[in-house]
Amino acid sequence: MARKTAVIGGGAAGMMAGIFGAYAGDDITVFEKNQKIGRKIYITGKGRCNLTNNCDIKTVIENTPVNARFLYSALNRFSPSDTMTFFESNGLALKTERGNRVFPVSDRAADVVDTLLRVSRQAGCKIINKAVSDIVVEDNCIKGIKIQNEFLKFDKVIVACGGKSYSLTGSTGDGYKFAEKVGHRIVPLKPSLVPLETVEKIPSECDKLLLKNVSLNVFDTHANKKIYTDFGELQLMKYGVSGAVILSASSHMREMQSGRYRLDIDLKPALSEEKLEKVQ
Ligand SMILES: Cc1cc2nc3c(=O)[nH]c(=O)nc-3n(C[C@H](O)[C@H](O)[C@H](O)COP(=O)(O)OP(=O)(O)OC[C@H]3O[C@@H](n4cnc5c(N)ncnc54)[C@H](O)[C@@H]3O)c2cc1C
Repeated sequence: MARKTAVIGGGAAGMMAGIFGAYAGDDITVFEKNQKIGRKIYITGKGRCNLTNNCDIKTVIENTPVNARFLYSALNRFSPSDTMTFFESNGLALKTERGNRVFPVSDRAADVVDTLLRVSRQAGCKIINKAVSDIVVEDNCIKGIKIQNEFLKFDKVIVACGGKSYSLTGSTGDGYKFAEKVGHRIVPLKPSLVPLETVEKIPSECDKLLLKNVSLNVFDTHANKKIYTDFGELQLMKYGVSGAVILSASSHMREMQSGRYRLDIDLKPALSEEKLEKVQ
């Protein structure tokens, strides 16, 4: 008889887990607290969803700044090329852009959500738009879940509640609570791939100003060393800085205390100071 499996969370992870669980013969129910699945996917890649990178596993590992080894087994089971095959064989045409970034040809993240929803239904997944309030464990065994106070029996539970970023999309941190309940140790959370607040005030006229071909060096003032260097887009914001180079840099800044890091930003790296003086 098919094992009854509950997937908590209908984001990218939960939908893929549901689909492949159903392919493996499980009787899958996905619980999503929002009225729609995949709310975070809609805002990814500026609404276009950079759904994978067209590269090999080694390249993904080399470009993962922290604890890359953790990804080995998952990537070996399901590589970037498997992700592309999955979407293309399910009717979503893809294209590869600069930096090997893969997007839907339509440039619509909504098409990624629609594909996940359609394929999950075809695979036989049920989707229930309700929040799971608890995981029920007895004698070290999963017994099921609770929706408010109602107990629902399941043989397996997959926790795919997301992290804590952009909590308006539904990821309010319930997954940590569930993981802790079944015995996992939760380490203090740290932000990654985020904009940065600066000590200096950015003039309001410059709010949202997007600068291209900027070079960035990040220094850890405590360790007195350069920890990151990059080149590309940077956006000035009223609270500080954002843009591709800043988001990438933030994942290398492991201790987010105020004043710890210094950013050296060169808006015209191709020009020497003498040349710049002459340009005026
Ligand atoms: C602005 C932005 C841009 C991004 N761009 C990209 C990109 O271009 N490419 C890329 O690969 N990644 C991108 N990311 C990262 C990517 O969005 C996430 O890594 C990915 O969406 C995480 O998927 P997930 O399923 O683990 O979590 P989530 O998408 O957060 O899904 C978790 C789901 O669980 C539900 N849930 C939580 N608790 C419960 C509960 N108790 N009961 C029921 N349901 C519950 C939530 O409502 C939510 O729908 C971006 C992220 C952001 C914020």
